[in-house]
Amino acid sequence: MDYQALADLLFPNVTDTPESLEERFPSRNAPEGAVITRMAPSPTGFVHLGNLVQGLISERMAHQSGGVLFLRVEDTDAKREVPGAVEVLIDTLKHYGICFDEGATHDGDFGSYGPYRQRQRAAIYHVFAKKLVAEGQAYPCFCTEKELTAMREKQEAAKENFGYYGKYAIWRDRSIEDIQAEISAGKPWVLRFRSTGSIENQFKFDDVVKGKLTITENDIDHVLLKSDGIPTYHFAHAVDDHLMHTTHVVRGDEWMATLPFHIQLFKALGFKLPKYVHIGPLMKMDGDSKRKFSKRKDPESALTYYKAEGYPVASVREYLLTLLNSNFEDWRRANPDADVDEFKFTPKKLNPAGSLFDIAKLIDVSKNVISRMDADTVYNLLTEWAKEFDSDFAEKLSADPAYAKAILSIGRGGKKPRKDIAVWKEAKAYMGFFYDEYLEKPVFDQKFGADTVKTALAKFLEKFDISDDSGVWFDKVKAITEEMGLTTDMKAYKADPDAFPGTVADVSTFIRQAVTGKTNSPDLYTVMQILGYDRTVARIKTVMEAL
Ligand code: GLU
Repeated sequence: MDYQALADLLFPNVTDTPESLEERFPSRNAPEGAVITRMAPSPTGFVHLGNLVQGLISERMAHQSGGVLFLRVEDTDAKREVPGAVEVLIDTLKHYGICFDEGATHDGDFGSYGPYRQRQRAAIYHVFAKKLVAEGQAYPCFCTEKELTAMREKQEAAKENFGYYGKYAIWRDRSIEDIQAEISAGKPWVLRFRSTGSIENQFKFDDVVKGKLTITENDIDHVLLKSDGIPTYHFAHAVDDHLMHTTHVVRGDEWMATLPFHIQLFKALGFKLPKYVHIGPLMKMDGDSKRKFSKRKDPESALTYYKAEGYPVASVREYLLTLLNSNFEDWRRANPDADVDEFKFTPKKLNPAGSLFDIAKLIDVSKNVISRMDADTVYNLLTEWAKEFDSDFAEKLSADPAYAKAILSIGRGGKKPRKDIAVWKEAKAYMGFFYDEYLEKPVFDQKFGADTVKTALAKFLEKFDISDDSGVWFDKVKAITEEMGLTTDMKAYKADPDAFPGTVADVSTFIRQAVTGKTNSPDLYTVMQILGYDRTVARIKTVMEAL
């Protein structure tokens, strides 16, 4: 067979050569050890936690090493494309601190290795397709859908492996005359790879995450170009990652199944194989068993969930690092104030079987992250969140920033900062009582009659002086307790609760409830200082009148 004649027949208009493309896309002159990697999403619209995990791994690997992270849009399946999906992905990842150095952007492409959208690269793929045909490594196949279905049914009945291989590869060795006849008749064709592999053979392969693997060769003549001339993922992956000089391919481990073919394809094309970082799926506990995240069942698989709940970006990033690198938490303990990007991330520590996502742990991490923020940062992030998700609360926060910041300063800045909130959504329940409109009516413990509560509150009002320091203030609460025949001796009370009608804790709770509407609040003395004398007194009086 004259393969060059076949190549000219199939690709009459391709005049570029692989060599000219190599010249057009020269190596990057990156520093030694720099990781050049990419995200290569299909623009289907939904940005999920898995995208962020992949983005974070890729971003850390690239930027930590002085390399490049670029965005390539895998839009070869026009049917699945959702308009605006690329922009949503770019914006969402940017929100989480993952910025691309190169590739598709809101305003077209940026960088010297484009185009970065695969449908615009058709001419490039055809150059390499023609080369493979000219070398006898690829051939056209004119099988119809119907023939392929019949083949599959036969394989199923005979309990054979599925696919276009061996005796089923009926176009593999057809004459150029047969091919010419089909083309003249206007029959559609796909381009197939001529595999020389055998499932009898195995070879060794080293994956950055999965470690040393033994892999079975591929014997299937997979499709390289579809009938519209657009490549399959496999062919585009090889051509693009070669020409864009990708050093590391970070992708989901669902691609492990076709990895043998990818390795084969790189070799056939004469390309250096990149390193592969195959990441396992994100898992979660469902009852007693682990399962993969489901877009349908798990609202927390969508990144919009974290935004709406009000998880700060820093919390999500910090949690994901905890999840991905087991030594992150130790590092954080040793470097509580360090910038998270100073942590040396390594893909080698990724769990090959996939990471177990635990929302309780995220909440814990987020409480810590928020507790370390200063009041200004908390105020800005909370207000930004509220503007989008609770406009009424946003108005209150914005009306008097100094007041809001005083509230948000409670318990902040010391060695053991308070950890009241994990998400901005919880902030209103925590601090809403500072705003009269959100103040709830207290419900006092039934154990005490209204008179007891009223007496305690009246006594407090008599003694209350806003200029007292917290020690004097509390001494007054203790004095009221004793005057009422309740005890300040918590030890004695614990030893024999029946001996006392109540304690100083009860009296404090009456006052706390009258001022905040709740049994739990930040430090009551500080709360009163922020509310001021008039509002504190007014609140207590209102409650007394209702008793
Ligand atoms: N478009 C592929 C996907 O979304 C890309 C995989 C890769 O990163 O190579 O799964």
